[in-house]
Amino acid sequence: MLTRGKTLEQFRTELNEYFKVKHCFLVSSGKAALTLILVVLSDLHPGRDEVLIPAYCCFSVPSAITRAGLKVILCDIDPETLDYDYGQLEGQLSNPRLLCVLSTHLFGLPADVERVKKLTCNSPVAVIEDAAQAMGGEWMGKKLGTQGDVGIFSLGRGKALTTIEGGIILTHRMDIAKALEQKYLSLRSYSVPETLLLFVYALLLKVLIHPRLFWIPKAVPFIRLGETVYDPDFKILRMSAFQAGLASGWEKKIAEFRNIRKSISWDWAGLLKNEMPSAFKCRSGVLPDLIRFPWKIESSPVRESILFQSKRKGLGIAATYPDSVDRIPEIRECFPRGGFPVANDQAKKIVTLPVHPLLTPGDRNEIKKLILAAVGQDFGLD
Ligand SMILES: *Cc1c(COP(=O)(O)O)cnc(C)c1O
Repeated sequence: MLTRGKTLEQFRTELNEYFKVKHCFLVSSGKAALTLILVVLSDLHPGRDEVLIPAYCCFSVPSAITRAGLKVILCDIDPETLDYDYGQLEGQLSNPRLLCVLSTHLFGLPADVERVKKLTCNSPVAVIEDAAQAMGGEWMGKKLGTQGDVGIFSLGRGKALTTIEGGIILTHRMDIAKALEQKYLSLRSYSVPETLLLFVYALLLKVLIHPRLFWIPKAVPFIRLGETVYDPDFKILRMSAFQAGLASGWEKKIAEFRNIRKSISWDWAGLLKNEMPSAFKCRSGVLPDLIRFPWKIESSPVRESILFQSKRKGLGIAATYPDSVDRIPEIRECFPRGGFPVANDQAKKIVTLPVHPLLTPGDRNEIKKLILAAVGQDFGLD
């Protein structure tokens, strides 16, 4: 808190070097990062006001689009990759009002950003790489977050690396960087009370994260652990030096967390090998850098029962996103004709298993039991 700009500048320099991108901006959240990017793109391309995103996505994404005063357009997904249904996507790219396409590595599953870039290369449509869940992730030798015209990482709770809250923007593009710089300079930073609140939060988290005390945050509703909400009303600030300080040593931390997540992911993959999406299977021997392990449960009663038991025992298996984007109550009237059957269906099947470094051996065992009971078909539904 006392070093002021120095810690921030150091964090920024380290990011520039690690990701080999020219421009980097540090803000208060992933949502704030997305909003700034969208505002800048829409200034650069007046007349274009529609943002194309996958119909199954984190609710923060449509929240940011609404906040930027733009319109959410959806494309259905491929059930195997959770990336776009590229057949449908191609048909949507000639839309003259399209401002940009967002490509997102959901749960760390790599999306085909290159393919979106190829499809849009002869148009002014920009590609935003939403790597909110994929900081430090790599695929086919490429660092996720660096392939789009502009990319973001989130440093929120539950992401690959956290500073309580925080967001990072990366870009190679000079025009975007120049406009972002202007916007960034016009933002205020955290006030002293806001910084103190972060500080208290960080302290509490440090204490409560202990497995023996972890029931407390789970039991206190206002902490809203792991909840996904649509809410365009959020603060957009420059990152504070305190947050940059929390990130210090991030390269080492990320590498360490990645190894632990990989090893737990392999565990789940072994148990679910016959149920894995073919996106995993066809690249056998390689698992992406997941921050949550997606598992599709076909039977709705089995899924409900697993979620119920996980909640009761505090195991951290989650439905993750309550529904597809077209069914978010606040914006569903924008999609009166629906048209996203795969996203609707996947949203009802997917649960995600935790792979984070704080998962206890006891919890891992309990989760294992639940999985084995479910895939062994002798799952007790009583
Ligand atoms: C978390 C997340 C965001 C938003 O990040 P915050 O820091 O929580 O605002 C955006 N996109 C995706 C895919 C996310 O998972």
